[in-house]
Amino acid sequence: MATQEPRELATGDQERLLDDYGRAIRSLRFALTDRCPLNCIYCHREGDRRPKQEWEEISPELAIAIARVASEHFGIRKIKITGGEPLMRRDLPEIIRGMRPFEDDISITTNGVLLQECAAELVDAGLDRVNVSLDTLQEDRYEFITRSKHNLPRVIAGIYRAIDLGLTPIKLNMVLLKGINDSEIADMMRFVRVCNERGRGNVVILQPIELIPSFNPPLERYKADFRRLENELKSKASETRTRRMQRRKKYFIDGVEVEVVHPIDNTEFCANCSRLRVTSDGKLKPCLLRDDNLVPVESTDEAHILNQLRLAMRYREPYFR
Ligand code: SAM
Repeated sequence: MATQEPRELATGDQERLLDDYGRAIRSLRFALTDRCPLNCIYCHREGDRRPKQEWEEISPELAIAIARVASEHFGIRKIKITGGEPLMRRDLPEIIRGMRPFEDDISITTNGVLLQECAAELVDAGLDRVNVSLDTLQEDRYEFITRSKHNLPRVIAGIYRAIDLGLTPIKLNMVLLKGINDSEIADMMRFVRVCNERGRGNVVILQPIELIPSFNPPLERYKADFRRLENELKSKASETRTRRMQRRKKYFIDGVEVEVVHPIDNTEFCANCSRLRVTSDGKLKPCLLRDDNLVPVESTDEAHILNQLRLAMRYREPYFR
């Protein structure tokens, strides 16, 4: 596919993609597939609840066209690619290469199982960095959580490969599960230190994520005490910062950066939401926690994409407020 050059817009021409609550979109989060080699006990599948027989995958042309229009018309130059497992898509390098001219930052969120073998090709295509999901360093717990066998060493090897290739900073996404991995924060911080030594700098950030059980009420029993975690981190931190993005807190503890993602009942999280999702079948998704207000994008036609992006803005409202 021919690579397109970004179109120059005069400063001041650019409209912001703004919703009725004054929230501007700053990034697009594409779920490119529903396929995944793991089957995590808690997975929300990015809010996609379609059964397997309805799974479809957005074409590279459409994904790139949405990214291009959002960049050229609304100045959105940050892309996160997720899934399912994005590395299951063979055409991922093609998609990244096609988006590259329009973006400042392209990252993927991956389970890391296929990262070791894919990383070099992704760097070549223009990927900037990766987030890797890693809830535990204990093999038996990993197998219980992911309902898979023998994958943990591959994930660790994938993280090391990503460090060596400079796909950094790498965030380690750790969904905290009561009674399973909520005692492992210190071990994970030790692992981050090993990674930082390997990368000769602060190349890895630990990101504990609060479990969202809304799609699966039996998961409530695994909800860890996030407020307690935050208080503990705060008491140990030499420095605390608040990110603009969803007002996330960052703690710096003995040289390790820990960024906490705490969405549930968090009005600040919603009030500061600046991302628009795109589902694997090419629909704009205004909120992770809702699937009754999706906006389909049915062609690569620029006027159509513009119209659908503006329409999705009208449907955006904070879930917790
Ligand atoms: N397969 C990729 C991976 O494992 O990173 C990308 C898709 S996964 C749905 C994206 C992120 O969502 C992961 O970091 C995962 O930990 C997080 N996630 C999935 N279900 C969740 C839930 N119920 N609560 C909180 N985070 C969740």
